[in-house]
Amino acid sequence: MTIGIWVLGDQLWAGQSALQSRIQQNQQTPVIFIESLHHAQQLPYHLQKLVLVWSAMRHFAEELRQAGWPVTYTQAVDFQTPLIDWIEQHQISELRVMTPTDRPFAQLIRKLELPCSLTLFTNNRFVWDEEDFKQWASSRKRLVMEDFYREGRRRFNILMVGDQPAGGRWNFDRENRKPPKGKLTLPEALWFEPDTITQAVIDWVKQSEAFKASQTYWDTEPFRWGVTRQQALQVLQFFVQTRLSDFGPYQDAMVTGEQTMWHAMLSPYLNLGLLHPLEVLEAAEQAYTENQSEWELSSVEGFVRQILGWREYMHGIYCYMDADYPERNWFSHTQPLPTFYWTTETPMNCLHQVLSQVKELGYAHHIQRLMILNNFALIAGISPQELEDWFHAAFIDAYDWVMQTNVIGMGQFADGGLIASKPYAASANYIKNMSDYCKKCVYNPRARTGENACPFNFFYWDFLARHYDKLKNNHRMGQILRNLERLAPEELQQIRLQASEWRTQQLNSPS
Ligand code: FAD
Ligand code: SF4
Repeated sequence: MTIGIWVLGDQLWAGQSALQSRIQQNQQTPVIFIESLHHAQQLPYHLQKLVLVWSAMRHFAEELRQAGWPVTYTQAVDFQTPLIDWIEQHQISELRVMTPTDRPFAQLIRKLELPCSLTLFTNNRFVWDEEDFKQWASSRKRLVMEDFYREGRRRFNILMVGDQPAGGRWNFDRENRKPPKGKLTLPEALWFEPDTITQAVIDWVKQSEAFKASQTYWDTEPFRWGVTRQQALQVLQFFVQTRLSDFGPYQDAMVTGEQTMWHAMLSPYLNLGLLHPLEVLEAAEQAYTENQSEWELSSVEGFVRQILGWREYMHGIYCYMDADYPERNWFSHTQPLPTFYWTTETPMNCLHQVLSQVKELGYAHHIQRLMILNNFALIAGISPQELEDWFHAAFIDAYDWVMQTNVIGMGQFADGGLIASKPYAASANYIKNMSDYCKKCVYNPRARTGENACPFNFFYWDFLARHYDKLKNNHRMGQILRNLERLAPEELQQIRLQASEWRTQQLNSPS
């Protein structure tokens, strides 16, 4: 009886459960990696995402080979054909796979017609076990992230002093919302030069007919992401040493040309499995312990909340929700996604800046994603599903599990408030305060109507007015809706007219 292991593209870690189950017999355990062309063509993915995943797979396959595993690495149209060939060639009687994080992929695997048995191992890539999350969630009326986060701090003993939170408070969020005023000295980011393996993938995706659509939208070079666990660990160390102590204050700030600010840049590596979230948390906590006298706890707590709070919560919710979750559309928004999300060509400077950065890098930080890209789509009434597809194609760290909860739930409020307690909708006022984008924009961030009124303004008030009845029972919307009620009826009428005209002329115009 031969046991074989199929390693998926986001499970690139020797500690993953399927590999661990045969670590003692590794030389007798054939392992397969498959690059499927069909899978990579489901959406016009960012070319750097394809390079990142495939180069990281090729590097990891090589590492396993050197550790003595008999590795087969193959490129094919689909998954089934090379799997069957390999199973027959090695006379494999049991195929082991770590359960995929993404639901559609788990379904794909279960539907494969294979000439051997299939064993799915528990996914051990997250801090919280899926079953533990379900147990936590099923005992609660509301799935509030802050409750979950506190439970995680207690359960995994992170930033705790006995049974109390370090510093006497669970949450230092209020200290972490500084606007980028004055001269800021920003830290460098850690990037890498492509090696020969990475360069071979770059050369292929850049010219292959298979990726024509992607080639029109995204830049492949310069490609500067890490592709091995060693490089991912370097990014983690670099972050902890040079950025973590100041992570908090400007977490929400946006500055033209500054692509990463104090952010960790760890999501691509965490999501590929090159890093485990627990080791990231432990590295952050250890650095804090060593530098307690100089570092603000608010920065470290803010970072821990991202990983142990938001990331784990989003994954838990994804597993907990029904299969219809991605189809939800609470506001019934149906506008098509504007072409400028793909081309970057819009006079709205904030959108243009962030979209150009995504084209160049496949990355934008959280507030750029939430309050620029997502906010505009929400207030303009874009279909959440079209937006989700775009995010999924555009981002280097995008996967089904993290996309649904962030775009459908947090971003678009399309689940009616399961994840967010109120919609993340904002006018130009927020963007003017938290960025320098408005300074170089053709629109006036103060104007709500008129020729150069900022579209974020008329869409914002139009959004509130359109959905007044749906929003009025949300207690967090009370003050905001009172502001809406204070608008003169003539002004509101003008705002709504301008929103409607803009929608017809600009959002629905062909590219
Ligand atoms: P930092 O700001 O330094 O945060 C540290 C880490 O916290 C991140 O690496 C990430 O692993 C984790 N984290 C923080 N918030 C979240 C969250 N809401 N969900 C999951 N992890 C979180 N994250 C992705 O990993 N992939 C995505 O495709 C993705 N799409 C998003 C789309 C929208 C509309 C929004 C609002 C958020 C999205 N996020 C996504 C969450 C978050 O924006 C990114 O994880 C973060 O910007 C990654 O950059 P960083 O590593 O520099 O993060
Ligand atoms: Fe964006 Fe409006 Fe500011 Fe221009 S004025 S950068 S469109 S918020």
